[in-house]
Amino acid sequence: MKYLFPLNKLNFNIYKISIKNKIMVLVGLLIISCQTQNVVNKDKKYSKNQFQKNIRDYDIQAVLWQQLAAEHRALSYQAFNLAKLRLDTYLTKKKSTNKPLAIITDIDETIFDNSPFNAKMIKSNTNYTKKNWAAWVKLEKATPIPGSLKFLLYAASKGVEIYYISNRSSNHTKETVSNLKQIGFPITDKKHILLKDSISGKETRRQIVYKTKNVIMLLGDNLSDFSDLFDNKSTIIRNKLVDSLHLKFGNKFIVLPNPMYGDWETKGIYEGRYNLNSYQKDSIRKAKLIAY
Ligand SMILES: [Mg+2]
Repeated sequence: MKYLFPLNKLNFNIYKISIKNKIMVLVGLLIISCQTQNVVNKDKKYSKNQFQKNIRDYDIQAVLWQQLAAEHRALSYQAFNLAKLRLDTYLTKKKSTNKPLAIITDIDETIFDNSPFNAKMIKSNTNYTKKNWAAWVKLEKATPIPGSLKFLLYAASKGVEIYYISNRSSNHTKETVSNLKQIGFPITDKKHILLKDSISGKETRRQIVYKTKNVIMLLGDNLSDFSDLFDNKSTIIRNKLVDSLHLKFGNKFIVLPNPMYGDWETKGIYEGRYNLNSYQKDSIRKAKLIAY
């Protein structure tokens, strides 16, 4: 077997070092070792103490952007202006089917702004739980995403039915309908609001609408609001699918911006692993950054 450094040569060189030099080398190694240990200890301290004090800090910029950036408002108006343009174009076309026209819309971060819920999680240093989400939903304080109310009222005035397909739990139907009504969203009878029972995927609920309606447009902040093609896919596949379907966006699919959460994070960044702790998530986020 060949060694990179022949052992006999290495041994010979070591024996040639004087005792004084050997002591200096040992002291040097000891200092380096201590310094390395300090860095490791600092990291451990950071992960166990400092980091736990700020588990949602990574979300601050996203929530501020959603709440305060005029660009968020502009993008929302842009989405609904485009939706109106497509709707008007569609209404001038000859009907290809006798089915009544319909639009399917998601609710959260598509027509409802829930950013105070995310802000609250940051301030109280807590992650999402069914319990803290339910507490927010019960307040019925979601506000409309800019442009959403005007667009859906316009569509309804043109005889287009609106179906609200959301992954809010069906246990929250009462509060959700009440919040929609308070804002003034149209067509909020229970037949038009399809919340989640047991299956997260929205395709089965979309199929119920497709049976009797001609769905001309879908609105959402999450790709799974448009097609089950996007369900449970990794970051790479999600991006490839969007490239292959690029002509759909701004046409049949109208996308709203949501930097705070979504499948892009849970299914994409964390690859569907829901049992990660905050420190592991932080490590993954940093590892996945693309720098130069
Ligand atoms: Mg949503």
